[in-house]
Amino acid sequence: MPSEKSIYNPNPAISRDAYISSMAEYRKFYEESLDNPEEFWMRVAKQFHWETPADPKKFLQYNFNINKGPISIKWMEGASTNICYNLLDRNVRNGLGDTIAYYWEGNHPDDYSRGLTYRKLLEEVCRFANVLKDHGVRKGDRVSIYMPMILELPIAMLACARIGAVHSIVFAGFSSDSLAERMFDCRAKVLITADGAWRGEKALYLKSLCDVALEKVEELGHTVEKCIVVSHLKRVTPCAEDHVEQDIPWTEDRDFWWHEEMEDKEPACYPEWMEAEDPLFMLYTSGSTGKPKGVLHTTAGYLLYAATTFKIVFDYKPGDIYWCTADIGWITGHSYVVYGPLANGATSVMFEGTPFFPDNDRFWAVIDKYKVTQFYTAPTAIRALMKFGEEPVLKHNLNGLKVLGSVGEPINPEAWLWFYRYIGKEKCSIVDTFWQTETGGHVITPIPGATPMKPGSASFPFFGVKPTLLDESGIEIKGEGEGYLVFSQPWPGMMRTLYNNHERFESTYFSKFPGFYCTGDGARRDADGYLWITGRVDDMLNVSGHLMSTAEVESVLTEHHRVAEAAVVSRPHPVKGECLYCFITPNENETFDPKLISELKKLVRERIGPFAMPDVVQHAPGLPKTRSGKIMRRVLRKVAVNDRNVGDTSTLADESIVEQLFQNRPVEA
Ligand code: ATP
Ligand code: MG
Repeated sequence: MPSEKSIYNPNPAISRDAYISSMAEYRKFYEESLDNPEEFWMRVAKQFHWETPADPKKFLQYNFNINKGPISIKWMEGASTNICYNLLDRNVRNGLGDTIAYYWEGNHPDDYSRGLTYRKLLEEVCRFANVLKDHGVRKGDRVSIYMPMILELPIAMLACARIGAVHSIVFAGFSSDSLAERMFDCRAKVLITADGAWRGEKALYLKSLCDVALEKVEELGHTVEKCIVVSHLKRVTPCAEDHVEQDIPWTEDRDFWWHEEMEDKEPACYPEWMEAEDPLFMLYTSGSTGKPKGVLHTTAGYLLYAATTFKIVFDYKPGDIYWCTADIGWITGHSYVVYGPLANGATSVMFEGTPFFPDNDRFWAVIDKYKVTQFYTAPTAIRALMKFGEEPVLKHNLNGLKVLGSVGEPINPEAWLWFYRYIGKEKCSIVDTFWQTETGGHVITPIPGATPMKPGSASFPFFGVKPTLLDESGIEIKGEGEGYLVFSQPWPGMMRTLYNNHERFESTYFSKFPGFYCTGDGARRDADGYLWITGRVDDMLNVSGHLMSTAEVESVLTEHHRVAEAAVVSRPHPVKGECLYCFITPNENETFDPKLISELKKLVRERIGPFAMPDVVQHAPGLPKTRSGKIMRRVLRKVAVNDRNVGDTSTLADESIVEQLFQNRPVEA
């Protein structure tokens, strides 16, 4: 029986064929990447096309120290390229024209599935690039995209990249207010959307939301000139019959159907050669900690980093079938549904639906259907699916899997072990990838053929990344210990600024510890040098002088067989300074009762220590989560002190949960 304390060595069959097949090999490359980053990334750059080559003397220039002047990060200054050309034309030229870039799986299993080859994708991208040009979009213009997981989404992104327009994708689960705020912030020229999206049995009418948002932007004093709309609702699903009659609101001269615009367009479009540091896209963070930040990524460095992390961390080989369940509206979808896989000529599955429709085995059914070899998802999805036990998993053949990935939150050992055992059948590598919208790609992660795994540890840094742990006063913690996770030198994929707000960029990430990029997350280094992400530093607890992380306590609580999810926050306490306030969601068909409360208190006491004994354990029918599935602990801190000024909750998936939690506060609290 696997246990949390054990170390899991990579399956020798995976190591044998892997790009990086041992820790010795990992260390060799890692040291090279730090000692001589220019040399290291110059080698990586050779596989891509550069219209103007980089000047080796100016391959990397940066200032990370706020006391020495403005923060700046430049990779490959002087080089020019086009990222779309590298993802599509280059691969077609190299003989991958007939290789499938995407298999598209609709919301309903009976939807037609579609495969798109690299050649066809290139043609569609060129045609849409011509549509954008006809509508006046030029290099440097911002294009907002608010779309479901359909193939037109990567087509729209790459069309922007081809002509040098900057895409700003807003996850299609966001409200019209959030969309308006983001379109206004970037002064979007054009909006691309769809009539709607399918989520299980429900249709979401996106175009109606867009109309409200476009009006709001107008009120704020900016006009989005055009809106291009994919007709999606009618074309696919057996559920559609009940919904097709819905009228799509339309404004003449502003709104255009995608398919009508595409009809007469040339399937060729000369790429715009972009400077290495020209913006590629902007993307707002999830808003777990406050107002979303408009993170800006640029061209050359992002290409190198997305491509390399994808190849190495998933150990992607020609013939593999890769599936990342993240929505393209998040950074995970940008780097690991679109840019990373396509840069490697990979074949991916793209999925419109949810894990629960039409049944709780949908993920496993899709893995079986396409014979997926690499599967990348989030702890929140794993925990939700664990609740249904193994039976839905056992209905399907998952034997093709080699690498399982996790991203978004610390994965608690309980969920890790379930993933390892029931999905990976104890023969897959699990890569617990720590990274952020800001980092552009994985920064701390196991490597499948090399890293002996510890459940819940993101383990070691990726090439080019130099993590340091600092204490509150900025002193480096060497060896074992816990502190602020910071990075002391740039890697190619990191953000360059916050859009139109370099000041906020510097103050958020570089002012707390001059000389370092500050992630805002805490981490612990164990005796073997493994890094364990302990969560956001704002979420740390200090009980009677004992410093603890929420992740640590939550992973103990979720070990209880009746608990599905747990979230822990601190509450001020007159004697202890702070005390623990726990929110518990029981498993399906389990009740929440005094017996469970006392068992949980006992469990924490035994596993962490008497000082960690929770003061309050509250029933939570659901937890307040961002639309990317992360627990918003700042809201829970408000519930714990019964303060209804909860702040900005616009990025919550379900705002009604907040009220329920206030209602559910136990009397003694
Ligand atoms: P905001 O910055 O607006 O509060 P956010 O930080 O949730 O939103 P993202 O950039 O999507 O937005 O998420 C990055 C954060 O997610 C990290 O800083 C970290 O807290 C968490 N995270 C991501 N992957 C992991 C992981 N493998 N282990 C632990 N934490 C992770
Ligand atoms: Mg963040």
